[in-house]
Amino acid sequence: MYTIKGKTGDWELVIGLETHIEVLSNSKLFSGASADYNPTVSPNTQVSMVDCAMPGMLPVLNEYCVEQAIKMGLGLNAEISRHSSFARKQYFYPDLPQGYQISQPADEPPVVGRGWVEIMSDDGTPKKIFIERAHLEQDAGKLKHDMHPTKSFADYNRTGVALLEIVTWLDVKNPEKNSYISSPDEAERYLREIREIARALGVSKANMEEGSMRADVNVSVRPAGSNEFRTRTETKNMVSFKFIKSAIEYEARRQIEIYESGATVSQDTMRYNQSEGTTSVMRSKEDALDYRYFPDPDLLPLDIDEETIELIRRTMPELPAATRARYINDLGLAEYDAARLTENTDISKWFDAAVGDKKQRAKGVANWMISELFAHPENWDEKNAVDAREQGIARIIRPSDLAELVDMISENAVNGKQAKEIFIKMLDGETGTPREIAEKFGMQQITDTGAIEKAVDDVISANPAQVEQYKSGKVGLLGFFVGGVMKATGGKANPAVVNEILRTKLG
Ligand code: ADP
Ligand code: MG
Repeated sequence: MYTIKGKTGDWELVIGLETHIEVLSNSKLFSGASADYNPTVSPNTQVSMVDCAMPGMLPVLNEYCVEQAIKMGLGLNAEISRHSSFARKQYFYPDLPQGYQISQPADEPPVVGRGWVEIMSDDGTPKKIFIERAHLEQDAGKLKHDMHPTKSFADYNRTGVALLEIVTWLDVKNPEKNSYISSPDEAERYLREIREIARALGVSKANMEEGSMRADVNVSVRPAGSNEFRTRTETKNMVSFKFIKSAIEYEARRQIEIYESGATVSQDTMRYNQSEGTTSVMRSKEDALDYRYFPDPDLLPLDIDEETIELIRRTMPELPAATRARYINDLGLAEYDAARLTENTDISKWFDAAVGDKKQRAKGVANWMISELFAHPENWDEKNAVDAREQGIARIIRPSDLAELVDMISENAVNGKQAKEIFIKMLDGETGTPREIAEKFGMQQITDTGAIEKAVDDVISANPAQVEQYKSGKVGLLGFFVGGVMKATGGKANPAVVNEILRTKLG
């Protein structure tokens, strides 16, 4: 359990995340304008009359966005509401032409209800993080304050693009269940899992750098071992894993200090200051009442039939949790390895491509990927898109290369040391498959016992003194003989065979 040491003792963290993902769709949630607002698009060129709230214009629900929400909901193992509705959440800001955001009511189940995602907890075991809800809503425009010394500009291209907000749940009635995020690392793993589910489903690019995934971070602390939920603060609009973790830690320490000084934490909305890595109070927390939510009179309720849900369910691809289960149950991988290999779909696709239909390769491929490739991401092409080495570009390993290398080891065609040498040659831009490289450099392993036996005999007769010592009990000398034989065979002998023959001959 992750804890932070205070003056009075250890403290635990309780973390709730509200994650916004931008829904991939050609057009916006309630208008036909293009939803692609990437930075190369000129400002205010993709704004319909609906988006800029011209009088008399009516919103029309984009059904594809609803299907995307259902897909994500199924990916979150969540209940899909057969009936939900849209409401106006009212506030003023210059990036919001309507003067309200169309969202789903805070006090009714939205399109996606209770669900869960599985992450790896800090103690290395799987942990379910409960989801309370996910609702559809409109994104706002973008204000630009850095284009002119005294003026600000508004770009409404993003106005009205569909967002899905996914909210984690604290089961207040069962606080001991620990089905919520309780450390900065778990927060990151949860967000990565959401990202991978969204990407695997094609629901969102879920890219924090480009703003298609953002999170509001709720944090509270409590004395270690207690089951209460104390007052939380909310830090808004975070767009990097690093900053989210730093904000959680800073905010937790700030709250601990407040409690330890005898004061209480107030429920505030915080801002994160990137350059200092600190949080500071922006305003006291608003609540749902402040926004005067009311049903949007221009939109019909959202009714979804069972058939639509079933149709979508049938098109669902394998999601990271299922991939992990397949790696553990079918391929015999350890939980940790399975988690590492499903951190993103590019990695798991690469792994699957290398394993192919030979399950017996799986452990070897996993070991090489985790110990050799993850440490050097520049040495492989996760996307598996280009045959870079064929084009003469060095330092790229393909799935088929690693597969062949692993096979060569298990067939005893090369030993571990030779495999590593071949691997390094491939990184250095040597062309050809591992077998061709082995051939070219004469790196076949010697498993022929006759040849090894001869080398063993030579080494034994050349070192009578050491043989004497070995026989009188200095068995540690075995390594000395193995070394001699390996040297005599140019490092090509199969070490297991060498060991066995030496042991018999030395008696
Ligand atoms: P609001 O919409 O007003 O921000 P919610 O009740 O929807 O509030 O909660 C927002 C998020 O804060 C949820 O993920 C929830 O689990 C989390 N949260 C609620 N109470 C706490 C608490 N005491 N400590 C940490 N997180 C909390
Ligand atoms: Mg909130």
